[in-house]
Amino acid sequence: AYGFETVGGGAEKQARVNDVFHRVAERYDLMNDLMSGGLHRAWKSAMVSWLAPPRRAGWRFIDVAGGTGDVAERIVNASGGKAHGTVLDINASMLAVGAERAKKRGLDANLVFVEGNAEALDLPDSTFDAYTIAFGIRNVPRIDKALSEAFRVLKPGGRFLCLEFSEVDVPGLDRVYEEWSFRAIPRIGELVAKDRQSYEYLVESIRRFPNQANFESMIREAGFERVSHRNFTGGIAALHSGWKL
Ligand code: SAM
Repeated sequence: AYGFETVGGGAEKQARVNDVFHRVAERYDLMNDLMSGGLHRAWKSAMVSWLAPPRRAGWRFIDVAGGTGDVAERIVNASGGKAHGTVLDINASMLAVGAERAKKRGLDANLVFVEGNAEALDLPDSTFDAYTIAFGIRNVPRIDKALSEAFRVLKPGGRFLCLEFSEVDVPGLDRVYEEWSFRAIPRIGELVAKDRQSYEYLVESIRRFPNQANFESMIREAGFERVSHRNFTGGIAALHSGWKL
C-alpha cells in the first residue's frame, strides 16, 4: 500500500503524484470518463462558460496542472479560436499526450505545453488574463504556494478559476459517493488501468482536500477578491473563482 498516513513532506508527496500520473497518462482520459460517469466533461464545460473567454486576439490564459490539455482546448474553442494558452504540468507523460492531441486537432498555434511546477512558476509577473486549474491543486503539496503563484502571474483584473472535488452537501448522496469512491474507483483502476494503488491514492487525495469554505479562505489569503464558488452535482465538484483586482 502507499502508506498515505505517512505522506507528509512536499517532495515525497510530489514524487508519489508524479509516479501516479506517469503510470496513468495513456489511459487518463478514458479513466476520467469511467470514474466520473462522464460528469467531468459537464463540469469542465461549466467552468469554461463561467470564464467566458472573449473572442479577442491577445487574451492569454494559463491552465496549470493542465495534463492532457482538455480544459485548454475547451477555452480556445469557446474563444472562437482567438485565445492563446499555456498548458503547464509537472508531468512530461501527461503533456506528451496533450501536445500530440492538440497537434492533431490543429490547436498547436494556440497552445504551448510547458513542463513546470505550480508551486514555482518560471514565468514573469502579470502575464495572464486568466489562470485555470482543474483537478490539479489537490495534488500540489503546498497549495498556498500554488495560489500565490497564481496571483503573481495574473494581470491586474485577471481571473482565477479552480475546479476540484469537494464536499458533498446533499444528504444520501454523500453515502452513495463514499461507496463509489472507496469501492468502485479503485476497482475500475484495477480492471481498466491495471493499477489499483494509483486510484486509491486519488480517492485519498480527494478526502483530504479542504472543503468549499476553507478553500475560499485560502484563496482570499493569497490576495484574491470577490471570491465565490459554485457546487456541481451536489458538491462532488466545486468551482472556485477569484479576481486579482
Ligand atoms: N487538468 C486535467 C484535467 O482536468 O483532466 C488534469 C488533472 S490530473 C487529475 C492532475 C494533474 O496535476 C496531473 O497531470 C499532474 O501531473 C499534475 N500535477 C501534479 N502536481 C503538480 C505540480 N506541482 N505542478 C503542476 N502540475 C502538477
